[in-house]
Amino acid sequence: MNEGHRAWLESDGTTFWSRSSPSHVGSSVIALISSVYERDPRWARRIIRHRIHTTEPLGEASWGSVKVAARRVVFSCPPLKAFSGTSVELIPAASTADENLSEWVRTRVNGRRFSGADEIWSFLDQLVREAERVKPRIMALPVSAILLDAEGAVLSWGVNSAWDYRTQHSETNLIRRWHRQGSPGAPAALWVTRKPCKMCSGWIWDGLLMQVPIGIRYRDPDDGPLARTTVLDPGTFERRRADAAKMEAADASG
Ligand SMILES: [Zn+2]
Repeated sequence: MNEGHRAWLESDGTTFWSRSSPSHVGSSVIALISSVYERDPRWARRIIRHRIHTTEPLGEASWGSVKVAARRVVFSCPPLKAFSGTSVELIPAASTADENLSEWVRTRVNGRRFSGADEIWSFLDQLVREAERVKPRIMALPVSAILLDAEGAVLSWGVNSAWDYRTQHSETNLIRRWHRQGSPGAPAALWVTRKPCKMCSGWIWDGLLMQVPIGIRYRDPDDGPLARTTVLDPGTFERRRADAAKMEAADASG
C-alpha cells in the first residue's frame, strides 16, 4: 500500500480527487469511486462516466471496481501539480449503508460458533430479510456475507447496499468493516449467498487472500457479464493478470 497515490477525474472545470485509503484496500481509485457515490448518488451517475486518472499501479480490486461502478481508468503521472482550476478532495465515508444492522447482527453472533452450511445459509437469509425490513431501499440485489475464523466465530459481515452506493456490495462492506475494526482474528472462510462479482472478487483477492489463504463459499450462481469470470476463477484473464502481478512483485522483492 502506498499512501502517496492519487486518483482523480475532471468535470466542468473541477478536479475531484482522492488519496489511497487503507479501508479501501489501499487504493486511491476505489477511494475516489466510493466517495463520489457516497457524496451524492445522482450526481455520481453523471460524473463517474469521466475518465479516471491515477498514479497507482492497479490491483484486481481497482480493476474490478472500475468495471462494476465506473467506466474507464488510465495510469497518469504526475498528479496534483498538473491539476488546473479548482480541485476538491473527496474522502470516502467511514461507514457503509448497512450499518443500521450492526446491533441486530451483534446480538445474534456474539459468542456464537457457526458449525455447518445449513446454519450459515439460514443466518445469511435472515440477515437479508432483516435488511429488507429495516431499510428496504438499500439493496439492489438481496445478498449477504460473513467472514468466519476456523472455529466458526464471526469476524465480519456485510449486506449489499449498492442501491445508491455502487461500490457497497456485501463482500466489499464486509472487507471495509473488517479493516476498519483493525483486521481482527484469523479469517478462515468467507460465505456469501451469491457468486462474487468482478469487483468483490478483486477486493477478496487484494484485501483478504493476499494476506491469508481462506476458503470462499457461495451458494447462488451469477452468469451475468460482471460475475461470469473473475480473479477467483482459475484460468481466467483476471487470474492470469493477478498471477503475473504477483510474480512481478516477488521478482522485485528479491
Ligand atoms: Zn460484488
